[in-house]
Amino acid sequence: MITTTCPVPGCDRTKPSTHLMCKGHWAMVPKDLRDEVWSAWKLRQKHADRFGPHVRAKAAALAAVRDAGAPPQAELGLSLPLND
Ligand SMILES: [Zn+2]
Repeated sequence: MITTTCPVPGCDRTKPSTHLMCKGHWAMVPKDLRDEVWSAWKLRQKHADRFGPHVRAKAAALAAVRDAGAPPQAELGLSLPLND
């Protein structure tokens, strides 16, 4: 499995390359937005040229996490039970 670093600023967790962000930050994305990312991703799997909705949904999900004031990694570990 290929892993990459979570794209949320200040987060250095790794994630599978197929995932948008680490598990902890993904959990911070509002459910309707997460559903949107998934359905847009599925659309893209079927139609390689229809990547626009997926790109937009991913950007919206990342913006939602940033707007929530994604705390630095150290604070996440201390304040939320996100560690596996
Ligand atoms: Zn993260």
